[in-house]
This record gives sequence, C-alpha cells and structure tokens, in this order.
Amino acid sequence: MSLPAAAQTGKSVAPPPALSSIRMQDLKKDVYDLADAHFRGRSAGTLDELKASMWIGEKYRALGLKPAGDDGTYFQYFTLLRHSVNVNSTISINGRPLQLWKDVAIAQMANKQLDEPIHYLGNAALIDMNAVNVKGKVVALEASPEGIAMNKSLPTWRYSRSIMDKYGSILLAKGAAAIIFIADATAERCWDDAVENFERGNYDIEGGASAKLQTTVPVLWLHAAAKQELMNKSAVLKANIVIDFFEYPSVNIVGKIDGTDPKLSAEYLLYSGHQDAHGVRNAIQNDSIFYGADDNASVDAAMFAAARAFKKNPGKRSVLFVIHGAEERGLLGSRWYVAHPTVPRNNIVAVLNGDMIGRNNPDSAAILGAAPPHRNSLDLVKMAMDANLEGPRFKLDTLWDKPTHIEGWYFRSDHLPYARQGIPSLMYTTLLHADYHTPLDNAERIDYGKLKKMADWMYRTGWKIANASKRPATDADFKLER
Ligand SMILES: [Zn+2]
Repeated sequence: MSLPAAAQTGKSVAPPPALSSIRMQDLKKDVYDLADAHFRGRSAGTLDELKASMWIGEKYRALGLKPAGDDGTYFQYFTLLRHSVNVNSTISINGRPLQLWKDVAIAQMANKQLDEPIHYLGNAALIDMNAVNVKGKVVALEASPEGIAMNKSLPTWRYSRSIMDKYGSILLAKGAAAIIFIADATAERCWDDAVENFERGNYDIEGGASAKLQTTVPVLWLHAAAKQELMNKSAVLKANIVIDFFEYPSVNIVGKIDGTDPKLSAEYLLYSGHQDAHGVRNAIQNDSIFYGADDNASVDAAMFAAARAFKKNPGKRSVLFVIHGAEERGLLGSRWYVAHPTVPRNNIVAVLNGDMIGRNNPDSAAILGAAPPHRNSLDLVKMAMDANLEGPRFKLDTLWDKPTHIEGWYFRSDHLPYARQGIPSLMYTTLLHADYHTPLDNAERIDYGKLKKMADWMYRTGWKIANASKRPATDADFKLER
C-alpha cells in the first residue's frame, strides 16, 4: 500500500506521553489469565462467558475505568436467540431409522413432518438445474467439489455451506420440499466439523435474519454409503424434525476514561474487542478447550494496556472500551451495542477494533478498512498509517483487505456493525494461522513482543484520535460490496 504523503516526510513526532504504560509483562499476564482453562473457552451464552465478563469488569475497576454500561455498571446485557434441532427428532429411509448426527445431519433446520418418495437427481455437477422439476418433491443428489473454492485455512464445515450455496439454493428456489445431499469424499472428511456446527444451531439477536426460523424446507446430509438406497426408485423419506428455541444472556463490558477538554470530552474514541471464544469442543491433540488466546484475549489485553496509558494521561476526547460478547456467534455483541449505544451514537468519532494480534511473522501486520471499498475514513487510515511509521513500522499486508480475498476477513469482526452505521472504523489484526479456532490457540503460543508492538500501534492511533482538532471524517463515497 502506498503511504500518505505526510507520513513519508519522516518528520519526528513526539510519542504519546504514556507509551511506557504499555508493558509486555502486563500483556502476558492478562492473556494468560483470560485464556486460562478456568474460563473453559468462554463460549457465548454460557456461564463461562459470564464468568469471564465479571472478571473483565473487575479488571476495568482495578484499572480505574468508569462504568459506562447499563444502570451505572460496566455491563450491557442482551439476549441471544438460538434455534437447534431437538434430539428426539426422527428420520428414516425405507423404514430404517437413522441415528441423528451419526447417520444423518440436519444442515438446514425446519419444523417438518414428511413421508414422501425420494427423487434421486444424480451427481450435483451433472444435473441440468434449469431442467429439473423439483416442486413439492424430496430430492437427493450427490455432492461434488467441482467449482467449489476450498482454502486450507477455511474451517471444513464451510464445504457443506458452499455446496448449499451452489446447488441447494437453486433447488430451494424451485420449490423442493426437502433436500438430501449425499456426501462425497470431501464432505466425508468434513463430516465431524460440519456436524458440530449444525448441532449447535443458529444464534442471533432480535431483528436479525436468523432470529426466527426462515424456512420450512429441511436440508439433510447422508453418508456416501446411503447412495444405493437413495437411488432406488421406491426410496421413501420419513421424518419428524422438531426445532427447539432457547434464549441465553450475553453481555458487552463497557468502561470509559473521561477526556480533559470541556467540549471534546463529549466525544468518544471507541476501542473494540471480543471476550468470547469457542468453548469446549471436539478434542484436538487431546485438548478440548478452545482457549481463544490470540482470538481474542490478545486484543482485550491490548485494550487494558491502552486503558492504563489513557488513565495515566487522558486525551482531550473521552475513550470508551467495549469488549463485546458473542462475536463468534455472528458479531452479536457489536450489532447489539451499535443499535443500543450507551453514549450518543453520533458522538462516537472512531472505532479501533482488534481481532487476533499476537501471532505470525513478527514484522508484519494488517489493518482492514484501509482501502476501498472497505475504507470508510481516509482521515482515520492516515492516522493509523502515521502511527505505524512513528512506532512499530510493521510491513503491512494489503491482500486481506481486498474484496476478492477468499476469507472475506473484513466482514468477520466487530468493527463491521459500526462501519455500516458510517462511523470511521478500522480492524487491527495479525491474521489467521493454523491454530485458529483450535485448542492450540493458547497463551503459550502468543508472540508477546509482537503483541506489545500491536498494542503500541493501537494506543498511538488512539492518542491521535483523542487529541485531533477535528474528528476523522467519514468518506462520502463509502459503500461496502456486500
Ligand atoms: Zn475473533
């Protein structure tokens, strides 16, 4: 990425006054504490997440932050809405009962009773989708990897979603009553990972697309071995699928440090991270706790570090620290906060979000939202670029910010709901690694020297925002590609 002209002059700028408050030993202790087995991976909507939230609230209090959540507390509670398959749901083929999740997986939930013949359509890649008549029918087709982009770093359950997007969506639009995918070799390899996700179900908040069940058409996966049975012209699907609905609490933890300027202190720079991780799941290398040290204890620790610095030397503007709940369930905490802000939304001048900032090459990092169409404030990007040159001098990756990047990383963290509201927003990250969303994302594997440089960078940027004479402007032509 080319650097803004001001940054290239190399004129020396005094470092922010409390830079020495960002200390590696504090970052390390905080990551170890928050990513400890005691919190069991902080899964959203569980007591583990709530326990971690109380711990973060106590941390805020010890750091001297003022409560800025609801009712004079650090906490803003909200309700997670979850749909999942009732364990007593029954599915059989030709009278042979299938064991839920072992023999059959439910990829799309619907309350449905069926006793219908099965129409075998063939291999997905070979079907003329325009010609088939599937209206009101139960159809079966064999999955095919042809034309499906598989990236090694993508969680394997995404394969089933890609198959659904490519073939299932057409069959749904044509009025199929139920869809049965027969697993190919790739789907067999992905089976356990996919089942874990299907079994968990959907989470959302009020007003979201998944807050209510959207469909009456179930989508099932069967193993490759079932193919012969499904090809039989007399094959019958009998199903009684029941979907449960649950509500759970989650919480954003919100604290602030007042600014010193009589006027500008009404405005807020917002630091954003998330507290939740992936809880306890299928064991990998004999460990089942998904600690979420990089994702995202690393950022929470950097926010505590910035809080120490701003507490020691406040800026002109106020600083808001929002550690969101339920990010991993679909950015639910940030979507909730931006819809129910605890300070006037127009007074939030910028959001500096971080997600995973303590891994990979020690000299490189990325900010997302730095280039169109993701950039929503050139002013803010300039501040972040200048702060990088004045401080850590990371070599910046630009590929992951591109709309063509397969991961769609820009759309996967808590700055997004703020950006959609037109608030200047950036995401700091050191990007993915092989331990992402596994028990190996643990505190021992964090590069604390790198984490300190990232924390420095986020604090240096925040210091500029807190003291700038004018708040960063939102780009007039900002429009996300989706
Ligand atoms: Zn994350």
